[in-house]
Amino acid sequence: MRKKLVAGNWKSNGLLADARSLAQALADGSWSQAVDVAVFPPYVHLAATQAILESSPVILGAQDISPFWVGAFTGEINGAMLADLGCHYVLVGHSERRSLCGDDDDALSRKIERTLSSGLAPILCVGETLEEREGGRARDVVLGQLDSVWKRMDHAAGPQLTIAYEPVWAIGTGHSASPGEAEEVHRWIRTWLVGQMAAAGEATRILYGGSVNGGNAAELFRCQNIDGALVGGASLKIEDFLEIYRHAANSRNK
Ligand code: PEP
Repeated sequence: MRKKLVAGNWKSNGLLADARSLAQALADGSWSQAVDVAVFPPYVHLAATQAILESSPVILGAQDISPFWVGAFTGEINGAMLADLGCHYVLVGHSERRSLCGDDDDALSRKIERTLSSGLAPILCVGETLEEREGGRARDVVLGQLDSVWKRMDHAAGPQLTIAYEPVWAIGTGHSASPGEAEEVHRWIRTWLVGQMAAAGEATRILYGGSVNGGNAAELFRCQNIDGALVGGASLKIEDFLEIYRHAANSRNK
């Protein structure tokens, strides 16, 4: 049985006071034991968010990690620092990092390795652009992104992965993939995971991300291979985020 996860990616939004008030609203929320919840504040708000969420079930994650270790790497935030701040998850390979910050296959593999060796759990984001989808290449692109990380990582750590399928054309556009479109890709990913890890591939969570909101979440969560959501914009509005979470809590875990 896969327990759903609803994760909020705050991206580069909000000042400290905003992070604190969002964290306080989350700390006051009511959470089901059947569905995990996590938030990914900007680095500079991690400590304040953690202090507020410390005794709540809300799990803390980081939006990125340095591909380097400790030392002379000016400006980098390494895995030991993230673990020390109370992070559990790290997002790796978000499409904004791939397209805007030059995170290529090599950097992503190093980030996965740093995440795992810091005792943290990677959420690996994959997804095709609109051009790739319209060119009939969505499957090759998504599985290619998975292959490229897999061939460089320690396969024994495979069960620690969470996958987030985030079609680039759906992120921040208000145009979510339909449940059918999303489930088709999640099935490709499930087959790939089972091919690499057998039973552990069945147990791996695959989140959907891309314009998830209170209006489309319930239908998405009904799909067999959608095990939760990575939520951007709607995670900044507490009522919207709670509504998405409620839909997850009301859906059956598979
Ligand atoms: C994201 O950035 O991971 C995301 C899914 O954003 P949004 O929900 O705003 O589309």
